[in-house]
Amino acid sequence: MPTAVLDRPVAPAGESPLLPLVGADTTVPLVTGASVRYADLDSAASTRALAAVADRVAEVLPLYASVHRGAGYLSQVSTALYESAREAVAGFVGARADDVCVLTRNTTDALNLLAGAVPAGASVLVLDGEHHADLLPWQRRGPATVLPVRATVTATLRALADALSRGRYALLAVTGASNVTGEALPLAEVVALAHAAGTRVAVDGAQLVPHRRFSLAATAADWVAFSGHKLYAPFGAGALVGRRDWLDAAPAHLAGGGAVTEVAVDDVVWAPAPHRHEGGSPNVLGAVALAEACAALAALPAGALERHERALRARLVDGLAALPGVRVLRIWADSAEPTGVVSFTVDGADPGLVAAFLSAEHGIGVRDGRFCAHPLLARLGVPEGALRASVGVGTTAADVDRLLAALAAHLATGP
Ligand code: PLP
Repeated sequence: MPTAVLDRPVAPAGESPLLPLVGADTTVPLVTGASVRYADLDSAASTRALAAVADRVAEVLPLYASVHRGAGYLSQVSTALYESAREAVAGFVGARADDVCVLTRNTTDALNLLAGAVPAGASVLVLDGEHHADLLPWQRRGPATVLPVRATVTATLRALADALSRGRYALLAVTGASNVTGEALPLAEVVALAHAAGTRVAVDGAQLVPHRRFSLAATAADWVAFSGHKLYAPFGAGALVGRRDWLDAAPAHLAGGGAVTEVAVDDVVWAPAPHRHEGGSPNVLGAVALAEACAALAALPAGALERHERALRARLVDGLAALPGVRVLRIWADSAEPTGVVSFTVDGADPGLVAAFLSAEHGIGVRDGRFCAHPLLARLGVPEGALRASVGVGTTAADVDRLLAALAAHLATGP
């Protein structure tokens, strides 16, 4: 029996960062002139990068050369790095052998790409609880039906089944986890309902993939889109992973060099996906960074990420519930455990002023406003907006406690 292991004290989940982030000790100025360590409770908007990602970027930066075009040694190295990053990113989301991984700028880019690939004239079904990135591309493309979410998951699934059976939808676009409440519909069940009606499913994985193990193969979803800057990699890299056929048949997302196999003045032979949609010189460093972040999350012991974020969410929600006049927003009364995104209102208080107070007086970063989900905020009865705190691998219980103490202080002085 390895007693050394048994003797090692195990910190309770959430007490310390699960993985180190760069800039975790950054201090910020307060109105008083003092400085404090920044408490970043806005990782749902963008995460800071993992230290491992920063190391990898520094390692790869000297090898930077043109991709897919040059015969030089470093061009070959860069091409290999880019293509192996693609493979790693696809593997991280459980891509099937015949799936394709298009490297994009972010989730918005990925979902717009997919919107351009839905066969002409085909209809799309979407719920009204989505982030604008998973609503506007479908509405702009048209025809799109926007189904209102119901008060319970059960009723929403029933409404979804009903809509799917009545309409002839080529695609259902659905969020993997809400950027407002962290809640989600049971994905595998949603996919089964859609497939039974002959409808494919695209998952907006921006708030899911960085926080839960997600697998295209296990859920049978057809596509997933996500962003590197919410997954502990820098801005500018994301992915659309999934079925190849529509992507091979679609017009190029960006027309230009790299997206073609042959060009004459009066004729073009477009390359198959993924290159068809990656016109122009690609973001090699972004792809490498994203792949490194995926690898770091995949290497965590099974359940560690969920335990960490669950403990912090519970601490946050319990603490908020104990504050007078604070209300945590929920879409559904019966949803399974949400991710670590918590939106709330403070009675009589302007969310923007509370957020400014938290920043200026306490060095705490939260989000306020309508979170690029205007229809959902209206549905939740807060069309004027709310506050949002969110946790990730770099968040600790001390960060959460600072937020709760600062909010208590704000309430004590009155709105
Ligand atoms: N979908 C969800 C659920 C999000 O939370 C976000 C960003 O907040 C997006 C899509 C858009 O992501 P990006 O801005 O990286 O394209």
